[in-house]
Amino acid sequence: AQAEIGLIGLGVMGSNLALNIAEKGNKIAVFNRTAERTREFYEEAGSLKDQIVPCETIEEFVAAIRPPRPIIIMIKAGDPVDQQMELLKPFLEKNDIMIDAGNANFRDTMRRFDALKDSGLTFIGMGVSGGEEGARHGPSIMVGGKEDSWKRVEKVLTSIAAKYNDEPCVAWLGENGAGHFVKTIHNGIEYADMQMIAEIYGILRDGLNMSATEIGKVFDTWNKGRLNSYLIEISGTVLETADPLTGKPIVDMILDKAGQKGTGKWSVIEAQNMGVPATAIEAAVAARSLSSMKDEREAAEKTLGLPGLSALSVSDRDAFIKDLESALLAGKIGAYAQGFAVMSAASKEFGWNLPMPTIAKIWRAGCIIRSQFLDEITSAFTAAPDAANLIVTPAFSTMVKETDGALRRVVSAAVLAGLPVPALASALGYFDSYRRGRGTANMIQAQRDFFGAHGFDRIDGADNHHGPWGSGLVAGA
Ligand code: NDP
Repeated sequence: AQAEIGLIGLGVMGSNLALNIAEKGNKIAVFNRTAERTREFYEEAGSLKDQIVPCETIEEFVAAIRPPRPIIIMIKAGDPVDQQMELLKPFLEKNDIMIDAGNANFRDTMRRFDALKDSGLTFIGMGVSGGEEGARHGPSIMVGGKEDSWKRVEKVLTSIAAKYNDEPCVAWLGENGAGHFVKTIHNGIEYADMQMIAEIYGILRDGLNMSATEIGKVFDTWNKGRLNSYLIEISGTVLETADPLTGKPIVDMILDKAGQKGTGKWSVIEAQNMGVPATAIEAAVAARSLSSMKDEREAAEKTLGLPGLSALSVSDRDAFIKDLESALLAGKIGAYAQGFAVMSAASKEFGWNLPMPTIAKIWRAGCIIRSQFLDEITSAFTAAPDAANLIVTPAFSTMVKETDGALRRVVSAAVLAGLPVPALASALGYFDSYRRGRGTANMIQAQRDFFGAHGFDRIDGADNHHGPWGSGLVAGA
């Protein structure tokens, strides 16, 4: 029998995804630019060999797949994907589906989708989360493309996706770039989630002078409560792991310079393009950039010194650690609210009709931000589908009211002690600005009108007025 699906690119993600597909009983044809890798992959496939058709030419590869042919391309993102598609195209037939499963910028996905519009071929942009482990045993999969194309791959993708209470973490989210856009925002939220965990770790380490092992135990406890999530779980494990070379906690031996590959930055750029505040995600991306400037930071510490108020002032240590837990939950709510607000704006801008409860649902397992918390987001959006923002849904407004006091106490204490908490503080600033009916932009409008005659609307209903600047009229005179 012919293969049900094909896959190009037997790197870390592609080979694991291919083994997952084969293991779930789907026959798969595989191809890699370097044929040696294909042979090696096949040799290592063991008992799954029967389900795998290793191919060394594109021609042979295409012929091995049942039409209309779904072909997953899991290679280095960017130009390689365009090159690979060009090489593949001459061998394909009407209705065949090229599926880019790498971390593409959704704007590239939109372009690739459009470019194939009149060719008879179709395109799917598919976000895959969960890293190597997810790809092998069940990732979270975000699909964008034509609904017909989705129908062709639904069965295979459902069989390989992670399951949460037996529900598969895969869904068709909309046309063209919808899947890759949602994956981008997933990663943006992931940046914020990780940064907030790192900030709380910093308070415990530098404010309460706790050892990595002690902090690990705190995280283990939190993982049994409302913060239960993959990231908290691995953070606990990370903190309790020893360095084989020195025997010290490994985390203390790791250089404090974070890498990034671009998806966090893209989510911030797209949020800014649409005028949606995503301050916690922005703070997290900026924090990674600042972290990478290690030499500059060390030089600045010599010049400026650390803020003088270095002792964290905490009267009841246990109560403060409880506050840290609630503060992290509150910060997380802010970050997710912002991520979902960006998706909601994009859904309108690009005509996707993104299903918010479903997005939260397919993130509950398989992906890096998987958590119990996402189940609460699904319920909140299902109960209040027209809510303007996650934080004003009945369920989350209650959670914000329960936790924002702790966030305020933690941010204040950290600020006074000179401990950086940019993402947590951004979430707090977001809550405080979002919930305040009368803000301070009247002042901005007055300034804009003063220097640039931009005009302003009045609170008594009249639009586009100008101030009597320079008229000599004096308030309170
Ligand atoms: P690897 O570096 O392990 O593998 C890269 C693959 O791309 C190899 O098969 C390589 O083939 C192929 N390749 C590179 N350039 C070309 C080209 N010009 N033409 C054809 N094939 C090419 O990458 P990963 O598996 O880590 O990543 C693949 C994609 O998945 C990326 O888009 C990545 O962002 C995304 N991703 C990665 C995750 C991860 O945790 N690693 C998580 C989620 C998504 P060859 O053997 O011939 O060099």
